[in-house]
Amino acid sequence: MKAPGPVAAAVRRAPRAFAVLALGAVLLTGCGATGTPVDPAPVSAAERPLPVGVQENPTTASTSAAPVPECNPTQSLRPGPLPPAGQMPAGSTMANIQARGKLIAGVDQNTYLFGFRNPSTNRLEGFDIDRVHDVAEAIFGPSPNIDEKIQYKVISSAERVNALKNGEVDIVARTFTANCQRWADINFSAIYYVAGQKLLVPTSSTVESLDQLAGKKVCAARGSTSIGRIVAKKAVPVATDTWSDCLVMLQQNQVEGVSTDDTILAGMVKQDPNTKIVGPPLSDEPYGIGIPKQNEDMVRFVNGVLEKSIGDGSWAQSAQTWVGGAQPPVRQYR
Ligand code: GLU
Repeated sequence: MKAPGPVAAAVRRAPRAFAVLALGAVLLTGCGATGTPVDPAPVSAAERPLPVGVQENPTTASTSAAPVPECNPTQSLRPGPLPPAGQMPAGSTMANIQARGKLIAGVDQNTYLFGFRNPSTNRLEGFDIDRVHDVAEAIFGPSPNIDEKIQYKVISSAERVNALKNGEVDIVARTFTANCQRWADINFSAIYYVAGQKLLVPTSSTVESLDQLAGKKVCAARGSTSIGRIVAKKAVPVATDTWSDCLVMLQQNQVEGVSTDDTILAGMVKQDPNTKIVGPPLSDEPYGIGIPKQNEDMVRFVNGVLEKSIGDGSWAQSAQTWVGGAQPPVRQYR
C-alpha cells in the first residue's frame, strides 16, 4: 500500500498536545478502568486508504493526442473452414499452441460477469472466459477440464495491447474494445458483444448523467477507453489498476461515480445493490478478442470458432448466463 493506514495517517496529523493527551489516556486506562477499549486516533478524522496505484488526471494512451489511423474497427478477417480439433495445420500459430499444450490467454479476474474468480471454486468464470474456453476446445478438443489446457494471465486494461505486442499471450479476452488506435498495434477478432459506456453512482445520488459531474472525480481503469470520455465530459478522471478498485473508491466516497461499459457496471450493481447505472450510453464499445498482429491465421481461426459458437447456440447460452441474454452482433469481414 502506498497510502498510510488510517490510524498512521491520523497520528501523523495529530498535534503534539493531542498525542500527549492520547498517551495520558492510554496510561490512565491502563492503570484504572478495565475493559474500556482505547483508540487514540479520532476515527472521524481518519482518511480511508486509497487503492494502490490510484492516479488523478492520468496521461494515458487513450487521452493522448497521437494521430489515429482511420479504419473500420469492427471489420475483421474472414474465417476459413475450421480444422478438426487436435489437428491444427502444420506450421500454423494454432499448431504451435497445440504443440505447447496450452493456450495462453490474457484475461481479467476483477470484472464480475466477464472475467472474475469464483471464490467457491477458485476458477475464472464469465462471458470472456467462455470465449477463451471455446478457442481452447477448438484447438485441443472438447473437455470438461478445459482449464487444464489454458494458461491464464491476469492482465490490467492498460496491459492488454503490450501483452499481445510482446507475444506474452496468444489471445486477450478482456472487455476489449476494438478501435483504430488498437488496431494499429494488434488484430481483433470479429465483434462478439457490443457494450456502451454509462455511469454508476450511489442509489442515493441525484446525478443522471456524466455531464452533471464536470469538475468532479469519476473513476475508470487506467488504459481503458472510458478515461477518454470522462475527460471529454470535463470530469476529473481518477485511474485505477482494476475495476474493483473503482467500486471501492465509490463505496468510500472518494469519487462521485464510475464510468465505463454497461457490462462492467452491471457486475458492480450485482455486487453492491447500493449503486445504480444512469444516463444514456456515451459510446459503442464493440468487444473483440485481441490477437498479435502477425498471427492472421489465428484471427481467421478465432473468427471460425466465434461463428461456430453463434451457430450452435453456445454463444447464446453463455450470453444467457452472464448478460441475461443478447442477440449476437453482426459479424463484418473484409
Ligand atoms: N471496453 C473498454 C476498453 O476496452 C473498457 C473496458 C476495460 O478497460 O476493461 O478499454
